[in-house]
Amino acid sequence: MKKVILRKTEEIENWRRNIKNDINFIPTMGNLHSGHIKLISTAKNDNSNVNLVSIFINPLQFDNNLDLENYPKTIDNDIKISFSNGADAIFIPCNEDIYPPNNKKIKFLKAPIELSSALCGLNRIGHFDGVCTVVYRLLNLIKPKNLYLGEKDWQQLLILKNLVQIKKLNVAIKSIPTQRDFDGVPLSSRNVHLSKNERKLIRFFSNELLEAKRNFQQEKKINLNEIIKKISAKKISIEYLEHLHPHTLQQARLEDNISLLAGAIRCGKTRLIDHVFLMKRSPIIAIDGPAGSGKSTVTKLIAEKLKLLYLDTGAMYRALSWLLIKESIDYKKEKKLQNILKDISIVFKSNTNSHQDVYVNNYCVTEEIRSQKISSIVSKISSIKEVRNFLVKEQRKIGESGGLVAEGRDIGTTVFPNAELKIFLTASIDERAKRRKSDKNSKDSQEIDLHTLKELIKKRDFEDSNREISPLIKANDAIEIITDGYSINEVVDKIIDLYNDKIPKDTEIK
Ligand code: C5P
Repeated sequence: MKKVILRKTEEIENWRRNIKNDINFIPTMGNLHSGHIKLISTAKNDNSNVNLVSIFINPLQFDNNLDLENYPKTIDNDIKISFSNGADAIFIPCNEDIYPPNNKKIKFLKAPIELSSALCGLNRIGHFDGVCTVVYRLLNLIKPKNLYLGEKDWQQLLILKNLVQIKKLNVAIKSIPTQRDFDGVPLSSRNVHLSKNERKLIRFFSNELLEAKRNFQQEKKINLNEIIKKISAKKISIEYLEHLHPHTLQQARLEDNISLLAGAIRCGKTRLIDHVFLMKRSPIIAIDGPAGSGKSTVTKLIAEKLKLLYLDTGAMYRALSWLLIKESIDYKKEKKLQNILKDISIVFKSNTNSHQDVYVNNYCVTEEIRSQKISSIVSKISSIKEVRNFLVKEQRKIGESGGLVAEGRDIGTTVFPNAELKIFLTASIDERAKRRKSDKNSKDSQEIDLHTLKELIKKRDFEDSNREISPLIKANDAIEIITDGYSINEVVDKIIDLYNDKIPKDTEIK
């Protein structure tokens, strides 16, 4: 494909008409550094779309003319960098192209007040309105499938996600983690203005934030005043340093697993921002739903794709049911049940096919627990208080440090009520019965006719949803996905998109 430089809006429209692929759009203000390169190359490696980089210094987002005048301009080098790292086209408009005088169609937008009145919005009046206005204009001109943005400007990212949602734009936002220099300082076009001493100060500031992140992992708490004191002692002028909820930008709450520590400082004439995410544990995805909703297949694939631990809690209830049957134990007899719970060991182990096997007291029961005999008794056993207390405790132990996707009936409501992403997966009874019938793992189901299978599923739904303890219900903050008519991959991709939207990329606990 011929690489092109486009300057006029008409040129963009013509170019767009002539390309067959979708567009990945990477908006920039030029003076490209490794952070921009990462955005361009990520877009390049993500898919086979056409990559368009724009270079436009948007005057609307500068609150003072001097800052605008001084913004570093390196257009020739930017063109070289863009093309050599995966751009197929570069859009370099001038002010009149983006904001044609007397054009009534150009909408000057206001950023949402809840998000733009915090952090940088407090001192940079109108900045985020300018960002929204230019990005909305560019998105309408370019109509990309994907928009690539850096997490470095986290507040801007939140505001643009909100813009896309409010304006119902058909574009997916993809983000990359903050790119840092060898000394911990985040890459920024404004860094070129720093003197040696100023660079030293910003290095101190960024490394304080990184240390706060490491300490938080150990101590699970933060002393903001202490950090402010340490930074101020270096004669660094702090504009703000705040500990907030990463999505609402309201004060962080004690129960938040992920929070945002964000700051802005002034070094000489340059203003710099940086942030880290504080995490108590790695993220957890909770997937609940009735039998046959596609939970197991979807959850396994998500675990594989996101490199998370896979926890099948249903298998634990099934494993216990298996042992009770094998030992001919009347589960209604409390004492006998207690004895079993005291000694039982339920363990998951990866097998040679990279699947999980379930062991009860060192005996592999992976296949046996899928029989109809177990399916018909498991709901009764799982409604016993002692059983639930015991297994929920075991499940929480497995998920203590997070980094897992768990499926079941009560994951989002009881086992991990603080899970970062909660999905309630469901499907019509007809669809679920059809799936069970063609489930190769469930031999018994293949032998039962469709009508009986439907009745059995209805019965199990009723028992699961009406039991006294932890019934199958959708958590208030769960997202419901009805899977009828969707392929497995479509459901998996949807959940991964939701995960990427909720979990900053910069949260890996290293
Ligand atoms: O998901 P699966 O069909 O293997 O689960 C078997 C049974 O285990 C469910 O019907 C339900 O009664 C019980 N269960 C539960 N809570 C969970 C997971 C499963 O009660 N978290």
